[in-house]
Order: sequence, then C-alpha cells, then structure tokens
Amino acid sequence: MIDSHCHLDRLELGEVSLSDALDQARSVGVKHFLCIGVNLESALDPISVAEQHSDISASVGVHPLYHTDQLPDPDRIRTLADHPKVVALGETGLDYFKQDNDPSIQQAAFEMHLQLSAELALPTIVHTRGAVDDTLSILRNHSNTGQVGVLHCFTESWDMAQAALDMGWYISISGIVTFRNADALRDVARRVPDDRLLIETDSPWLAPVPYRGKSNQPKYLPAVLECVAQQRQTSADSLATLTSGNFARLFPKAEI
Ligand SMILES: [Zn+2]
Ligand SMILES: [Zn+2]
Repeated sequence: MIDSHCHLDRLELGEVSLSDALDQARSVGVKHFLCIGVNLESALDPISVAEQHSDISASVGVHPLYHTDQLPDPDRIRTLADHPKVVALGETGLDYFKQDNDPSIQQAAFEMHLQLSAELALPTIVHTRGAVDDTLSILRNHSNTGQVGVLHCFTESWDMAQAALDMGWYISISGIVTFRNADALRDVARRVPDDRLLIETDSPWLAPVPYRGKSNQPKYLPAVLECVAQQRQTSADSLATLTSGNFARLFPKAEI
C-alpha cells in the first residue's frame, strides 16, 4: 500500500529515528510514501527526506493555513518542482476553519498552484475544509487544463466528492474514516469509484482507531486500508493493489 499523504519531516518520533519509523511502516506493507510540503521556507525538508530514500517522493506548495500576508513566489515553486523527487504541487487549497485567516490570499495562492500545475504538468494536492463552494468554483475555473489532482483527507459530503470526481479528480481517505462519528465519510469511502480512490495517514496528525491520542505514523496506514476495504466489501490486499495503481497513474513522476 502507498501512503499518499504524510509529513515525514514533521513526525513526532521521540527516541525512534526516522529510518526506524520508515522500516516499521515498510514491515507492515507500506511500499511508497509521498512526503508533503506545507510552505516554501521549509520546502527543502520533504525534498531532502525523499533524496535519502528510494521509496519516498515529495511535493512542493503552501498549505492554506501556512500563508504569510504575501503570495508565494511562483518562480521559487517552479525551481523546487524541477527536482526529480518532486512529483506534485501542494498541499494548497482553502481552509476556512479558522476565521482569522485571510481567505483572499488562500484563494489567490490556490489559483496560482493550479496554474502552475497546468504549466508544469504536475498534479495538485488539495486541502479543503469548510470551503466547499469556493473550492469547487476554483476547481471549475481550472477544469479545462487537463491537469487534475486529489482532494486529500476528504471530510466533506458525497455531493462535493461527486462534483470533484465529475471533473476528473481523485479522493483520498485518511484515518478519520475509522472515527466513530464518521458515518458520512464511510459512505463516501464506499461510493468513490475504484479508479479514483487513494488512502493516506496525514501523519503526524489524525491517528486512526485504535491509535487515537497517539501521534500518527505511516505504520498505522493498514488501519485506514482495512476500514476502507471493509466498507467496500473487498479484501485489504485488493484495495492496496487498487489504490497503489491509482497513485501511480495520478503521480506518474513518482518512481514506484
Ligand atoms: Zn491537509
Ligand atoms: Zn497534510
């Protein structure tokens, strides 16, 4: 299985080294990791983790909650994205959960990432929370570019998922799917078509049941896989094969 979204440079490992944490994940069947960038200041951290391991790829972008009051520099994104280990842009998107963030910067930066996605022929990793209408309308504005991406750590309604799927986007399910009150997300996890589904940990955040309260790690990905497989009435093995194939198709620059 492939962890399509993790922050390996931000794991809270205590006494354990990152190499050991990766080995633990590999030993339970994780065969590739996409390490996600959150801002340009620390953009070299995911890239250097990826440089050290053949089974890790990286992304470059600015998370909606990590903006300063200035737009990110597109030339800096272009330069970083040229690195052979960088297989995607993001995470970018809209997060209206914290009202004190300026939405206009988030929107302009999201548009910039989608323009760069088309220009550089790289897929985009989108974070969306509490911003259904604005996210969909920006995706619609860019839907004629031929470049798509993934709505990661999806937590919205089936209606939103369907609107994004209609535009060719993928949906990634995190450990939230294991939470007791996540019936609506389990419904989404059942209904996403076979060829558009990804799984992720979003570690170090959102540890799945039965690890809630711990800091999340890629080694907990099987709990996400098994929950989604159960919802879809398929085996964990076949879902791992299916979602790994989807990952390879969406991120062709990743060496898997
Ligand atoms: Zn996110
Ligand atoms: Zn993330």
